[in-house]
Amino acid sequence: MMTEKRVLLDTPPEQWGELPALAGLEGYRVKQLRDWIFKKRASDFSKMTTLSKSLRDDLLASCLVHGIEIARSARSRDKTVKRLLRLRDNELVECVDMQTPKSRTLCLSTQVGCAMGCTFCVSGLMGFTRNLSASEILGQFLACASELPEPRIDHIVFMGMGEPLLNLTNVLEAIRVLVGEDYFNFASRGITVSTIGIPKMIVQLAKSGFKGNLAISLHTPFEDERRELVKSAERIGIESILTAAREYFDLTHRDVTIEYVLLRDVNDGEGHARALANLLERMRVHVNLIMYNETELRYKRCDDSAATSFQEILARKGVHSTIRRSKGTDVSAGCGQLRRYETPATH
Ligand code: SF4
Repeated sequence: MMTEKRVLLDTPPEQWGELPALAGLEGYRVKQLRDWIFKKRASDFSKMTTLSKSLRDDLLASCLVHGIEIARSARSRDKTVKRLLRLRDNELVECVDMQTPKSRTLCLSTQVGCAMGCTFCVSGLMGFTRNLSASEILGQFLACASELPEPRIDHIVFMGMGEPLLNLTNVLEAIRVLVGEDYFNFASRGITVSTIGIPKMIVQLAKSGFKGNLAISLHTPFEDERRELVKSAERIGIESILTAAREYFDLTHRDVTIEYVLLRDVNDGEGHARALANLLERMRVHVNLIMYNETELRYKRCDDSAATSFQEILARKGVHSTIRRSKGTDVSAGCGQLRRYETPATH
């Protein structure tokens, strides 16, 4: 009878001292193994060359570091890499590795599917299946990180599939390991949690001790329209989201980003820009204007000139913004394009 392999990241890190007994390792081997996983971000035992060959063989036979398999990778013309990951129960999520000449960002998923029902996003199309565990979130990070040609990762953004604040316990547990000095030792300031805007969870995140960035997807300054664009926002007023954003800033002293996806002839007009500027003019926020990535859904990308005018109107009220041209759109790795099923690789 085949016995199931032990997944090391399922063991809470503070219990790794007990791994010798759990996995039959001598104490100093645990430190070596931890160094390979947390410092060198390795997830393949056969490459852990400071471990004896017989130990590597034993580990290969009995354990997995994270148990996540890369089912498919697609590389975009701009070097963005989208990876479809198979979890142990065969569910699929996607994560994206984005590069500029100066930095590298990993975009991670927090749920299989999404319940928030944004009408412009394909991740929400098939609904919600389940939360990712902390171990699966970390496994996603390791599965991607161990594929990189060089170790530097500047940012981790929880902007993939799912609503991170509806899986906050597991997201915070994963962040604790990502930033812990004895673990991945990643800078908190390089981590962004992105939410559709759930006021009480935003405050909970701020009170959790998280010292990273918050991004709130607003997408329109008008309540009625927001209920159309974000189905789950029915009972969440824009003012209550902005109040929570102010509280987040007061508690953490970290700036908040407002995400605004520009949809042609929907929310990209001058009236929208003026109303958004009025809402945000006295807040410490930066606005990310996102050029929409077209999918099979009915929305269209707004014109460059409309985006520039929108930005100018915000600037007149002193609201800072950036126009973000999403990366990886030729492999459907852009915002709102992540899926939970296989799409044909283009490269
Ligand atoms: S945009 Fe984000 S919150 Fe909305 S459905 Fe897509 S994954 Fe969920």
